[in-house]
Order: sequence, then C-alpha cells, then structure tokens
Amino acid sequence: MVAAEFEPPQVMDVLIRDGRISEISKDIHCPEASAIDGSGRVLVPGLVDVHVHFREPGQEYKEDLRSGSKAAAAGGFTTVVAEPNTVPPIDTPRRLENLLKSASQKSIVHFYSKAAITRGMMGMKLADIAKLKEAGAKAISDDGNPVPGRRLMLNALTQAERWEILVSPHCEESAAYRERILNKRRGHGQPPGLSPMPYSTHGAPYTSEEGLIRRDVESAERADARIHISHVSLAKSVEIIAKAKKRGVRVTAEATPHHLLLTERMAREIGPNAKANPPLRSEEDMLAVRQGLAEGTIDAIASDHAPHSPDEKKRTWDQAPFGIIGLETTLGLVLTFLVRPGILTLRQAIGKMTAVPAKIFGLDGTGIGSFKTGIPADLTLIDLNKKWKVDSHRFYSKGRNCPFDGWGLQGKAILTMVAGQIVAKDGIVALENRYSG
Ligand SMILES: [Zn+2]
Ligand SMILES: [Zn+2]
Repeated sequence: MVAAEFEPPQVMDVLIRDGRISEISKDIHCPEASAIDGSGRVLVPGLVDVHVHFREPGQEYKEDLRSGSKAAAAGGFTTVVAEPNTVPPIDTPRRLENLLKSASQKSIVHFYSKAAITRGMMGMKLADIAKLKEAGAKAISDDGNPVPGRRLMLNALTQAERWEILVSPHCEESAAYRERILNKRRGHGQPPGLSPMPYSTHGAPYTSEEGLIRRDVESAERADARIHISHVSLAKSVEIIAKAKKRGVRVTAEATPHHLLLTERMAREIGPNAKANPPLRSEEDMLAVRQGLAEGTIDAIASDHAPHSPDEKKRTWDQAPFGIIGLETTLGLVLTFLVRPGILTLRQAIGKMTAVPAKIFGLDGTGIGSFKTGIPADLTLIDLNKKWKVDSHRFYSKGRNCPFDGWGLQGKAILTMVAGQIVAKDGIVALENRYSG
C-alpha cells in the first residue's frame, strides 16, 4: 500500500501490534500477523472532522452518538469534534462530562466536543470557560449563531487565551440576527448604529459573514488569542483571513465540501437538502473559497455534518431547517472534485483532513492526524479509483439531507481502523460496539 503521508508517497508495509503502529518499512516479515492487502490503495492517517453535529443530547431523532459515529467510520473518519448546540447546549462542565461519558460507550470513533461560548448559547453571559477547558472542551463555539457584541467576543477571546482554548465562532449575520441586536439596543436606549440587512434578489434574507469575521479576527488580534473561523463561504471572508494571516494574527479557517462545490443557484434546483447556514453563495464566492483552500488561507476541510429528519427536510424551502450532512460524502467529493482536477494535491487534501485540523484543535498530542510508529493505529485505507454513486438511503447517518444524492464519485475509504480495530470495511460498519465486553 502507499502511505500518502510520506513525500513522495511510498510503498510500505505497516505492522500494527496491540492497537499501535509498531513498524513502518519496506518489507515486514511477521508470520503471526494477519495481513490486509492494500496493494494499489493509499493508506492515510484516520480522517479528522472538526465540525459535526451529532444532536445528542436532545434531538436523537435527527442523529445520535451511535449513528453519527457509524457515519463517520463509514466515511473514513476516525476522529470527530462535535458542536455544542445540542438540547440543552453543552455549556457547563457537568453537561460536557456527561456527553463525553455517553460517547465513550456509544461512539465507535474518537469523539471530542466543543463547548458553548455563552451560557445557554444565549449570547448574553460567558460560560465558565476555564472549567469547560478543564472538563475536556476542545474549543468554544456558539455554532448556529455569532456572538453578539464586540465586547462580549473580546472577553471570550481574552478568557480563551488565558485558559489556552481555541475559539471557533460561527460568523454569520442574518437579517433576523441583526434585527435582534437592533431591538436589544433600542431596549437599552442605545442608538442602533447598524442599518437593517438588505434582502437578496431571491427574496430570501441575505446573510453576510465578512463583518463578523473582521470583528472577531481583530478582537483575536487584540487579545493575542487563537481563532478558528468555521465554514468560510464568501470571497470577501477569504480576503480578510488572508490579510490577517499576513500580519501575524493567529487565525485559522475551515471550509465545507458544499461551500467548495455548490452555488446558490444549484441550491435552488436541489431544494431544501441544500439549505444551510451560511447559505450557498455565488460561483465567484465558491471559486474564491476553493482558491483560499488551495493557497492555504483556509487550512482545513470540515463537513459541518448537520443532520435533520427527512420529514423536516421535506418541508418547503422556507420552512425546512438549515443543514447538510457530510460525513459519508466528504472524502469522495474531495477526491473527485478537488484532487482529480488538480486543485489540491492528494497530500494537501489529506493534510487538510488529518494533521492540520488535529493540530488546530490540539488533538495531535496523542498522535491523531499523524502517521508514525508508536501512536495508536487510527488509519484509513483509500481506493482512489473506486467509482461509486451517492445513495443517501444507504447512509448510516439518520439524516438524508444530502445535496449530492445521486452524484457519481471516484475514490472511497474502503477500510477504517480505530486503535488497530477495523470499524468499517468497504463502507460497511464492521464493528457494532467497539466498547462492548
Ligand atoms: Zn455554523
Ligand atoms: Zn455547524
């Protein structure tokens, strides 16, 4: 098999012993080992998705820790970082500890979680950031909504820097959001200082993100804090992040496959399964996000896997909830539409789905995202030539809200291994309960 981590990719044998990578070399002779033939395939570190919604606790009808982790395994992911906007949100150490405990019993891949920036994710008072970090939060985010108010965000960043935790905001400003802020200011007798948002040509509320990205990046700069921008969708945002990086701000960013491959026009044709936050944009924006990814302004690829029940997504465009699932399609989409046409090299693409996000979220200490001897054997074997068709009805996710349903892809994870155990093979989850017994 070919290990893509090495430059140039090399044909290697990999020996796994007691769940760890014990040897990587040209010819390993180990008669007592059982062999997996990876000829013609590419072996990479287990994929890492730092932006998923598993909906547990509270909305298990959309997804749960078990179904979400199966979707991850089937798609080649061995590590996920979940968003805290569950019901109730993960805004206290107790809630985070309970979630991590449940995940240790139910998830078949490594599960980590972000915690809320503000209490109840209400955008009013900061959560106890020090205690959340201590309880194991890998970042803080009020995902789904931005943090209202420059001062509140600056305080969050200052605290986060002090307790060495990453801030990963959802920088999207919708008309409804801006109206709420305006009303709050009016209620406090303050001048609004903001004008109402314009409406897009489709009559759908326009949402921007560049204003909030600029605000949050500047605040991170002031606080000398690290900030990771979720799901970048606009050309303008890429420009702001590129400039900030140039002047040394500790900013990183991610993009989703849907913002890299779909446009607003396509979304209207596909219907509510392509309705997401932030929304799909113009072709120009999509191409700028792609270019930002290729040039390194956007560091990582993350799915923002956001399942909803099929019934919810069968509603009209206006009534359907926001969100697109991605764990079972991300790798195939990236290989087919970014690697094959040469927009990203294979090494770049894999890096953006392994080592880079692992480092940003501080998961690399235990070897997550890398490929070397001594670390747990979290590995994904990829068949770059395998042709397959996306069929959302066969997903392990409970969600069917996939705008790529029916698309033909080339390249697939054919084996996913967590700590030396095969959790999925040929897209079929092989291990029902990693923790039983
Ligand atoms: Zn978000
Ligand atoms: Zn999200």
